[in-house]
Amino acid sequence: MEKRTELYRGKAKTVYTTDDPERLILHFRNDTSAFDGEKVEQLERKGMINNKFNNFIMAKLEAAGIATQTDKVLSETETLVKRLDMIPVECVVRNYAAGSLVRRLGVTEGQELTPATFELFLKDDALHDPMINESHAVVFGWATAEQLAQMKTLTGRVNEVLKQLFDDAGMLLVDFKLEFGVDANGTIVLGDEFSPDGCRLWDKETRKKLDKDRFRQGLGGVVEAYEEVAQRLGVSL
Ligand code: UDP
Repeated sequence: MEKRTELYRGKAKTVYTTDDPERLILHFRNDTSAFDGEKVEQLERKGMINNKFNNFIMAKLEAAGIATQTDKVLSETETLVKRLDMIPVECVVRNYAAGSLVRRLGVTEGQELTPATFELFLKDDALHDPMINESHAVVFGWATAEQLAQMKTLTGRVNEVLKQLFDDAGMLLVDFKLEFGVDANGTIVLGDEFSPDGCRLWDKETRKKLDKDRFRQGLGGVVEAYEEVAQRLGVSL
């Protein structure tokens, strides 16, 4: 597999083309960003941890019958993925109130949400990823109603699989964000990554934060927390 040109540089990952038009390479960098890129730091080892963590989670989801973009690990920080036409809509599921939900609605952080909530956000940095609803996505052509229905179903299945996985390892899966794309056959496939950069994880007993909120809130020990999550799940680093 030959790495060709840089296709896209995001805040934490760079995407490269390869000699296979159906395959891309995701490079997980150490860059850690928050507040729409206002706060950026290099955190040693984070790229490697997130690459391995993501592959571990995607393999669990594949085993549960959920199609993902991941193909195979290429190096400590690089993974080969299937090329998808990405849908510019982020799907967020919440099992406990935190983050923007608390800020927006004034509800109590940590309140259990049953059933889990489901929200859509437009992936647009310039607009600060505004919250949207299904009719916006459909009328502006970001996704069809059928695609949105599938994304919602798949997100719910991911939640069921991962809630249990983290619970077994003594953690609460508070919330997370997923992105989907369409493959060459027109099938909706889970894309992007699943790592502590894009989810909230709390220790079940102490509710200690083990995710990117440590970076957002300047709590320190960010990489140590990511390593702890990986170690509790049995991800070999
Ligand atoms: N999230 C993300 N990327 C984004 C926005 C949110 O990965 O651009 C994740 C975030 O880490 C959290 C969940 O989605 O696990 C819900 O985020 P929220 O809406 O609470 O926003 P935030 O508090 O991160 O601004």
